[in-house]
Amino acid sequence: MAVGGVEVSRAPAGVVPDRKALVRLEEVIKVYRESDVETIALRGVDLAIEEGDSVAIMGRSGSGKSTLLNLVSGSDRPTAGRVLVDGTDVGRADEAARAQLRGRVMGIIFQSQNLLPFLTLEENVVLTGRLAGSELDRSWARELLDRVGLGDRAHHRPEQLSGGEQQRGGLACVLAAKPRLMLADEMTGELDSATAARLLDLVREIRRTEGMTVIMVTHDEGVAQTADRIVELRDGRVVADRRVR
Ligand code: ADP
Repeated sequence: MAVGGVEVSRAPAGVVPDRKALVRLEEVIKVYRESDVETIALRGVDLAIEEGDSVAIMGRSGSGKSTLLNLVSGSDRPTAGRVLVDGTDVGRADEAARAQLRGRVMGIIFQSQNLLPFLTLEENVVLTGRLAGSELDRSWARELLDRVGLGDRAHHRPEQLSGGEQQRGGLACVLAAKPRLMLADEMTGELDSATAARLLDLVREIRRTEGMTVIMVTHDEGVAQTADRIVELRDGRVVADRRVR
């Protein structure tokens, strides 16, 4: 089928749209246009992710992983098709509605952590939680920092922390906001394997206790195996979608 001049792939036969899905992509196409250069990043992606599920998005560089995550987070809009998060059409919602959805539903972890440099770790956690509407006092912020193994770093500013500690600090901030949906782009990309393993254990624990849904982009097969489901992209298409547990 061709949509807007783009040849798209259809969902495999038998895939039934799931009404319980927290995240749903329907025939999503994303074309980037810069002057006369056109790049088709997604060529008709259908994906339904249920509440509580954990999905790893894999694929070579340039296959469309970050584009997909950006569309779900609402930081970009699809060229065609729909991206629904908790029933909201993220691609068509105005900026205020998208910001509200992000605050209400999402926690976003990107490779470079967005800790505020002039605040201590504890202040970062308290502020992020309050911005998301959580009733968060300092003792709970300390508990979260303990859980990510940074209880003794609460009064440090980000520049006084290692890269791995900043990553875990960012995760504590995400937890403070109690998101239903965590989006992570190469969450463990710059971490040594022991720290990465600790972080992944923590995510698993939080999923169990809070029922959080996770979508994580990774190129690391070991990281992907900690998810429930692995979706592989190639040239903007879903070429494999398998449940690993
Ligand atoms: P991945 O995350 O799998 O490496 P991306 O989603 O970043 O892939 O990119 C998919 C394709 O879209 C690539 O060809 C990339 O060059 C292109 N692309 C991504 N972002 C932009 C942009 N802002 N402008 C133009 N092209 C882009």
